Amino acid sequence: MAYRVLDGCICCEACVATCPNEAISLDGGTYVIDPIRCTECVGAFETSQCQEYCPVDCIGPDPDWVETREALAAKYRALHPA
Ligand code: SF4
Ligand code: SF4
Repeated sequence: MAYRVLDGCICCEACVATCPNEAISLDGGTYVIDPIRCTECVGAFETSQCQEYCPVDCIGPDPDWVETREALAAKYRALHPA
């Protein structure tokens, strides 16, 4: 399941550098997460780094992007070929 930026984002940019997949960017004045690149941090960290570091707790799972842990791991490998 990809994560998404929810209402309440204060555009502090703290999440951007935490993402191991460069999935977070500024788009039209708001920060967005590319669900194609988000692996819930599977492959890199035990917890979702953007959610952990967001100071206003406005990042959460996107119910429209449900994926298994195996699928997320495969996605991570595809994004980071050895
Ligand atoms: S959950 Fe992890 S991979 Fe997904 S956007 Fe946040 S930091 Fe990036
Ligand atoms: S860390 Fe939270 S408040 Fe800051 S830009 Fe990211 S989503 Fe917005």
